[in-house]
Amino acid sequence: MAVQRDMPYIWITWLTKLLVGEYSCEWAAWFRANHEGGSYDKVPSTFDATEWKLKHTELLTSVRSNMEADGRTVFTESQNSFKLKGSTAILAGKPDLITVSDGVGTVLDVKTGEPSPSHHVQVMLYMYSIPKAFQQYRGVVFDGKVVYQDHEDYVPNSAVDDTFIGNLSNLIQRLVSTSPARRVPSGVECGFCNITAADCSERMEETDVDTGDTQDF
Ligand code: SF4
Repeated sequence: MAVQRDMPYIWITWLTKLLVGEYSCEWAAWFRANHEGGSYDKVPSTFDATEWKLKHTELLTSVRSNMEADGRTVFTESQNSFKLKGSTAILAGKPDLITVSDGVGTVLDVKTGEPSPSHHVQVMLYMYSIPKAFQQYRGVVFDGKVVYQDHEDYVPNSAVDDTFIGNLSNLIQRLVSTSPARRVPSGVECGFCNITAADCSERMEETDVDTGDTQDF
């Protein structure tokens, strides 16, 4: 049985697809934010985590080595774990790489899959959080980069503007509310969700997607 958390806890990757509109079901993030992760069953993943980890580590190591060869000090993964405590929730994350040079910071996230706007938002959430969460980065202005196998996308600090912070704040307020957030079941989105039917009574399966016929094309 799902156990209520003492304080809502939100992992940054639960927010990214919601913020860019790739996902619509806020209830999944609301449920995770408000319940201890180890207290409820999860749908087993078909994702090949081992293969992903191997590819991710290879690209991460290559990016880090190139930056160090340029004389930069680079902090990686677990060194970058943070929890940012607000008045209503804890926001947590673990950026792949952080480097600071002459008072200018860069946070990088490495992606081995297809590019997605949610990757930019993930980096923007790190750019927002890091100077607040880490004592040593107080006052540092961060730019961001999403690094893919064949190119990298630059994310300027100016992207983390009042509109972005307002959208983030509004989403978090919906996720920490005692009223459950909006639930939007669909065969596609439920197919990527690990919350079982025991906790989400409206869960649909991928095969539940309606299909029809037409002679119009
Ligand atoms: S199973 Fe579907 S409806 Fe339920 S929380 Fe997950 S995405 Fe939302």
